[in-house]
Amino acid sequence: MTELSLVGPRPAISEIDSASLAAWLSARGEPAYRVDQVLSGAHRPEVATFDDLTDLPAALRSDVALAFRFSTIVDSHVIGADGGMTAKAVHELADGQRIESVLMRYAARGAMAERTTICISSQAGCAVNCPFCATGQAGFGRQLTPGEIVDQVLHWHRPPWSALGDAKTGHYNIVFMGMGEPLNNSDRVFEAVRLLNDPQRLGIGARHITVSTSGVVPGMDRMIEELPQVNLAISLHAATDALRDELVPINRKWPISEVIAAGRRFADRTGRRVSLEYVMIDGLNDTVEQADGLIMLARGWRSHLNLIPLNPTPGSRWSGTPTAGIERFMRRLRDGGLSVTVRDTRGREIDAACGQLHAQLSGRSLREAREAAVFAGTSS
Ligand code: SAH
Ligand code: SF4
Repeated sequence: MTELSLVGPRPAISEIDSASLAAWLSARGEPAYRVDQVLSGAHRPEVATFDDLTDLPAALRSDVALAFRFSTIVDSHVIGADGGMTAKAVHELADGQRIESVLMRYAARGAMAERTTICISSQAGCAVNCPFCATGQAGFGRQLTPGEIVDQVLHWHRPPWSALGDAKTGHYNIVFMGMGEPLNNSDRVFEAVRLLNDPQRLGIGARHITVSTSGVVPGMDRMIEELPQVNLAISLHAATDALRDELVPINRKWPISEVIAAGRRFADRTGRRVSLEYVMIDGLNDTVEQADGLIMLARGWRSHLNLIPLNPTPGSRWSGTPTAGIERFMRRLRDGGLSVTVRDTRGREIDAACGQLHAQLSGRSLREAREAAVFAGTSS
């Protein structure tokens, strides 16, 4: 690409490949080192617009701003919670689709340094249709492009957040646990991971990235081959097919035995531990039978169980298992030989579970939402 296409939106900096950028620059008679100045420069945590690329000559800077978009995200509405330790964004894309991402900061504790987790979306909506999930209830919008996936991370990496600092050295994680089923969009998700890895861009190591799946078996096998360093989390949520068919409807296509077999292949081939996610729903999947089933499924291989209290969606017929019930369930699993933790629930007050803020804002412009939030004193 030496000249830009006149149809479709201008390419964003997050998605342009360095060869195309090099060709575009060289067609303008620019030296080769400009590629790095533009690409690395636009990924620096203090750079908020193309105007901040002050090591470029002014004329080139304005050409770059005309030829490329700084982001595929056209607007964001951000609200904070947990005393500023959690922030959630609804992002609007060029065609009006909306997606969510969340920033969670964790203070240093004991020997553990301060950490940051950024939760991002892989699709606008989701077709899997899990009945406890706000995104699933809203249905499928469209696939996100690699640039739209990367731009969610860049949103938090850039001012005023600059949350990753030097992403190459910080303590942080990127998790595909926002809207969408990442392995139903694997080509673009894998490309986004490669862009995030690129040392000329953010340089985020694959071991800092987690893909969470409802159990798309072929996608899990592709991860073994193509992204063996990326972490895998499987949303299990039930130990019997009858219950999982209801909670995670994709189970009718790939039942528990096949999902667990794929998880074991991943653990065996990569030598790394697989997380099994388990949303705890009161009186439904928190029974002794489910616990014993889980022990059978998760014992004897490199797995780790992550219990997540349900964050009920508006109008939900279910509520989360109370703390005492979660502790009982956890003890039984531990007695059965499993490695288990309970996930801390961040941002309940801002509807941080997948898809909820988006649902709440539907039908309102993000500007309107922002003004209303400032009015109510919840904006950050
Ligand atoms: N589609 C992928 C990744 C996005 S969902 C998946 O399902 O794994 C990320 C996680 O959030 C999943 O484990 C999902 O089950 C969980 N989740 C969805 N809705 C939730 C809710 N209301 N309360 C708690 N966790 C929820
Ligand atoms: Fe989709 Fe995951 Fe929500 Fe299920 S839990 S509907 S797979 S986003």
